[in-house]
Amino acid sequence: MARQKKTPSFVLELPLVVHGNHAKWLHAHLEAVRCLYNVLLGEALKRMRCMRNDSAWQAACALPRSHKQEREAAFSHVRKAHGFSEYAMHDYAKVARCNWIADHVDSTMAQTLATRAYQAVNRVCVGQAKNVRFKSRGRGLDSIEGKRNNTGLRFALQAPQQGNEGYLVWGKDHMPVLIDWNDPVVVHGLHQSIKYVRLVRRKASSAQAKGADPQGNRYFVQLVLEGKPYQKEKNQLGNDTIGLDIGPSSLAIFPREGTVRLKVFCEELRPDIGKKRRLQRKLDRQRRTNNPDNYDEQGRVKLHGRHCLQWKDSKGYQETRRQLATQERKLAAHCKSLQGKLVNDLIAVGNHIQIEKTSYKGWQKQFGKSVALRSPGMFVEHLRRIVAKTGGTLSEVGTSQTKLSQYCHGCQCYVKKLLSQRWHHCPCGIGPVPRDLYSAFLLAHLDPVETIPSIALKDWEGAEPCLVAAMEFLQQRAKEGQFLPRSFGIPEPERVGQKVLLRTNKSWSISIVEVG
Ligand SMILES: [Zn+2]
Repeated sequence: MARQKKTPSFVLELPLVVHGNHAKWLHAHLEAVRCLYNVLLGEALKRMRCMRNDSAWQAACALPRSHKQEREAAFSHVRKAHGFSEYAMHDYAKVARCNWIADHVDSTMAQTLATRAYQAVNRVCVGQAKNVRFKSRGRGLDSIEGKRNNTGLRFALQAPQQGNEGYLVWGKDHMPVLIDWNDPVVVHGLHQSIKYVRLVRRKASSAQAKGADPQGNRYFVQLVLEGKPYQKEKNQLGNDTIGLDIGPSSLAIFPREGTVRLKVFCEELRPDIGKKRRLQRKLDRQRRTNNPDNYDEQGRVKLHGRHCLQWKDSKGYQETRRQLATQERKLAAHCKSLQGKLVNDLIAVGNHIQIEKTSYKGWQKQFGKSVALRSPGMFVEHLRRIVAKTGGTLSEVGTSQTKLSQYCHGCQCYVKKLLSQRWHHCPCGIGPVPRDLYSAFLLAHLDPVETIPSIALKDWEGAEPCLVAAMEFLQQRAKEGQFLPRSFGIPEPERVGQKVLLRTNKSWSISIVEVG
């Protein structure tokens, strides 16, 4: 069977109107889906374990990696023998979808669930994940998708004469979908052909929240559409080349033509750390009051043997947990929207973007708090998606070959800098300029296939004042009392005996100024 060619797709999300009765059967449907998913996951896991214990699997592992074809053939043979494949799992789903589940889940939905279970287990099999997660009754399964828009879970739109209303159809039931026909994004989306439909359940802040059902959930339908998403008019395209140096909390932007900026990543983000801490403490107190038997005399959680400890939740505990989750969810949503705006701002300048290849997972260990708040990895993924959509390029430069953070274009030497050295100042006369901005400048002038940036004298003469101007702007803001991260290399003036940067004639000099 020839595989169908992949076409571009995008997602349009519409809220569902859920009333009392609808909420009840949606809950029942999703509960059935959860049970089926757990069964499929268990079966896939069992098959994987059998397969790994097979001597043929070990023989395949022992084959040298240089014999690529032989190795692949051996692995696929073992997989086939143990029925560990997407299609074998589809066959199993037919059997598992027994009487009562079949009332809720049709065969195409069962197939997509089987695929999902197989992919989860396969990630463990190939070493991309450590474990799979069974969906507990308390947490439930929050999304389900169909396969095509003509059977099972599907979206139906009335003809304009009949009222233009949309419905999500699941088996015999159907629910109205909110459509804002004044929104050009929605109108554009609804004119594309639908590949398949996904139903998503999200937690609202409370049961009284707008659009929430009595259990405090909101439901959305996601239409996966063929084609390209709507491009808003305000998001015009530029065609400059931008060097982008991404740090855990800072972003240095160097377009070849245009304003150079050193920014705090998602500056507007204001996490309420005090409130979070208070809620966490309250949760802990409530947990202790509800389960006094689970703690020893010193207040530590008791060790358990074969049987896990039983934990009880009170209504108040659940309420506090929801408050904490809502706060975190809002923060994440704000971060995402800020990043979206930043991406659009960048694209307006140019859609040829060069960044350094970084392991954001490695950053999580080193700069945990900052990365958790600002999620630079997600930003890069967003950027990649938008750049691809607009036909631009995002080239990632390997750091081990180029070593741009050590490079100086004046003398073409590589000198290592400590993490605390925030300024590039070379004896050859280059600098001092902020390190992040300098490496963004180098990135902007790097040909992706080369390892050394090609910089003419006039490039640097043009760039230096821009870098200095960007820095002066930041210093002005620091003087006004705005908080800037330490990585900018601008000391806070209020500290006593603090290093303060002074501009003398043409170069920056660092001097100690006594304050107070
Ligand atoms: Zn130099």
